[in-house]
Amino acid sequence: MKTDIKSMTLKELGIFLESLGEKKYRAGQVFSWLSKGVEEFDQMTNLPFSLREKLKESAFIETLTIEKLQTSQKDGTRKYLFGLKSGNAIESVFMKYRHGNTVCISSQAGCRMNCAFCASGALGLAHDLSAAEMLDQVLSIQRDTGEKVNNIVIMGTGEPFDNYDNLCRFLEIIHEKEGLNMGLRSVTVSTCGLIPQMEQFARDYPQVNLAVSLHAPNDAIRDTLMPVNRSYPMNELLTACRRHTEKTGRRITFEYALIQGINDGEVHAKELAKRLSGMLCHVNLIPLNVVEGGSFSGVERKVAERFLAVLESKGIQATIRRELGSDIGGACGQLRLSLKS
Ligand code: SAH
Repeated sequence: MKTDIKSMTLKELGIFLESLGEKKYRAGQVFSWLSKGVEEFDQMTNLPFSLREKLKESAFIETLTIEKLQTSQKDGTRKYLFGLKSGNAIESVFMKYRHGNTVCISSQAGCRMNCAFCASGALGLAHDLSAAEMLDQVLSIQRDTGEKVNNIVIMGTGEPFDNYDNLCRFLEIIHEKEGLNMGLRSVTVSTCGLIPQMEQFARDYPQVNLAVSLHAPNDAIRDTLMPVNRSYPMNELLTACRRHTEKTGRRITFEYALIQGINDGEVHAKELAKRLSGMLCHVNLIPLNVVEGGSFSGVERKVAERFLAVLESKGIQATIRRELGSDIGGACGQLRLSLKS
C-alpha cells in the first residue's frame, strides 16, 4: 500500500525519505511542494527524476475533489462539498472577514456526538479524516479562490477531539515554516466538551483558540440537546474551561445556538450569566439554523438581542454571530445531507 505522504510532519517526511535512501534535506523541498497543493510528484520540479519516480512508486498525494460549490452573491462566502476517496463527502466554508480570510473545515466524515439540533450527526460517523484530508480542504480552497487563508476554524462536520491525533498532526503541518507557516493563534478548535482531550490540548497547544459548544445554561436542557453532557456535565465542563483559561491565559468562546422555546428565555440568559461569571470568555450567540425535518426552530432577531442584553447587563461579553452566506443558507452539514438524499 502506498504511503499518505501529505499526512506526514516534516520530521516524519525526513525519516521516510531516508528510508528510500535519500538525503534528509530533500524533506523540506517535498514538504513545501505538498503545502503548495501540487497534485503530482512530477510538479516537484526541483527534485531529481529518480526521486520523483521513487515517490510515485511508494507514496500518493491526497487531493480532494470539489463535488459542489455554492457562492454567496451577497458577501463572497463559498461553501464547498468535497468528495473523499472513501466515497464520503465533507463540507468546508470560505468566509471573508475584515480580519482576513477564514476557512471552516471538517475534522470527520460524519460525527458520533449526535446533538439533537445538528445535521452532521444524523448519519453517524463514517470515518476520521486524515491530516491530509484536513489540510487539503485549506489547500483546495486556496487553489480555487486564488486567495490566501489567514485563519482556520475547525468547526465543520465532526468532533475534532474525537480525532485527536490527526488533529495534532494537521496543526503541526500547517504551523511548519516550510509549509503554510500558519500561526497557531490563527486557529480555533471547536468542541462539544470532551474534557480529557480539552485538558490534553491545553498542554499540547496552549496557543490555539478554544471554542466550546454550550447551547444551554444547565444540565437539564443540555442533556436533552447534547448526549455528551451525560458523560461530561456542565459543572465539570465549566471547571475545565476555567482551568483552561488559567493555564493558557486565553479567552474561551462559548457557542450558544438560540432555539425557540428551549434555551432562549431571559431566565436562561440570567442562569448562563451566573454560571460564566468571572470567567475569561466570550459568548457567541447563534440563531439556530433550521435543519430540514428537525423539530427545532430558530429565533427572531429581537429574541437574540434581548438575550444579548441580559448577558451584557451581567458583565458577560457576548455577540450575535454575523450571518455570512445567508443566501446560500443551510445549517452545518446540510449540504452533505442533501447529497445523500
Ligand atoms: N463538534 C464540534 C465542532 C463542530 S459543530 C462542536 O460541537 O463544537 C460547530 C458548531 O455548530 C457547534 O457549536 C455546533 O453545536 C453548531 N451547530 C450544529 N448544528 C447547528 C445548527 N443547526 N444551528 C446552529 N448551530 C449549529
